[in-house]
Amino acid sequence: MTQTPKPKKHLSFTALRQSLSRHVRSLADPRHPGKRQYSQHDALLSAFACMFFQDPSLAQFQKRMEEGRHKNNLRSLFDVQAIPSDNQLRDILDPIPSESLAPVFADYYERMRRHKHLEAYAILPGMLMCVIDGTDYHSSSSVHCPCCLQSQHRNGTVTYRHAVLQGAIMHPDQKQVIPLMPEAIHNSDGQDKQDCESNATKRFVRRLHQAHPRQTFLVVGDGLMSHQPLIETTLNEGMHYLFVLKPGDHAYLMDWLAAYTDWPSHTWQDDKGRTHHYRWQQNVPLNGRADSVQVNYLEYQLINAQGKVTYRNSWVTDLPIKLDNVVDLARAGRCRWKIENECFNTLKNQGYHIEHNYGHGQQHLSYNMYLLTLLAFFMHQIFELTDKQYQACRQKSNSKAYLWECLRGTIRIVVLPSWEVLLDMFLFPDNYCLVSDKG
Ligand SMILES: [Zn+2]
Repeated sequence: MTQTPKPKKHLSFTALRQSLSRHVRSLADPRHPGKRQYSQHDALLSAFACMFFQDPSLAQFQKRMEEGRHKNNLRSLFDVQAIPSDNQLRDILDPIPSESLAPVFADYYERMRRHKHLEAYAILPGMLMCVIDGTDYHSSSSVHCPCCLQSQHRNGTVTYRHAVLQGAIMHPDQKQVIPLMPEAIHNSDGQDKQDCESNATKRFVRRLHQAHPRQTFLVVGDGLMSHQPLIETTLNEGMHYLFVLKPGDHAYLMDWLAAYTDWPSHTWQDDKGRTHHYRWQQNVPLNGRADSVQVNYLEYQLINAQGKVTYRNSWVTDLPIKLDNVVDLARAGRCRWKIENECFNTLKNQGYHIEHNYGHGQQHLSYNMYLLTLLAFFMHQIFELTDKQYQACRQKSNSKAYLWECLRGTIRIVVLPSWEVLLDMFLFPDNYCLVSDKG
């Protein structure tokens, strides 16, 4: 009988799921003891299972399976003892403070670090790159809650939004991204001014340092970040930064740079005949204020074989720019698009249904659903990086979408003892007599 290799114990599905379960069971339950027909654990893990299998109707499907056969996969895979209905699930999840899920992100990160899976992500020796960006995950003209950001339009209509400042550990050579606990951009009670991305970024950077005080980070962000208050916050937390600099937003700095006639530079040609050109200046003032922060300025151009500039960008950083790091710094800066592509687009368009209306709630439901989706994505990224059995499944299937379609199909008809058996069934269906093409 062919068998698949055992996954790494501390990063296996069971270990990660148990860690989530343990944490959720430790949360206070503010409900009246008489109103706890379903536990917070069972509600939260039922919702998580939907995100994990990218199937909004999974919980209800398993509930029907339970009623008919007294067995279901939410029990065997997710340790859910009693499955609440959709409405009950939303009522239980709405009041759970979203911040209470932060330790789960920190725990998964720590497991990755302890087992040396983050070493391949070092952008410079001992330094991890954390790319940050803001994104909306809810937008509606009617569905809203007190936390919603509001945009008033001239025609009198209002758009209600939820957004986050998301951070993820990335590396130009690594396809997988490691998501971090995001910072919600939302309104709270007693606030007369709306929350904004810039304030959320400051909170995110402070919490990143609190969560991982011994790790050196290079925070990489877009042109909205390259302003003095954010730069100062990042430096105060002992971190480095590399922020896009849009020349149009920084007339003073551009005038200052125009006065230089002597630019340190570096040029090389790749095997496609394209020229990579870098030039930089150190210790230039970001703005005209007397207390202006001094920045190092880096400019990069990619020129194709025909001599046409096909890509151009510039950044500011506190790291000294040298011949031996200038290529890596520009690669780090260029890698920023990955958060949009590998993280947000995957969550929105590739099966995770992040903008699907799982329900909005009046308190934290909408954000809790976002966080559970992100945790499911995190787990899948860990499997792609560390789980040999999952990697074998990915290799066997033409696309990720096909693999998940098969896994969803299987749990609809078979009650499985474990996640490993589910994957093994996909890899070796003959062993389970599911397919008989051997006569
Ligand atoms: Zn809302």
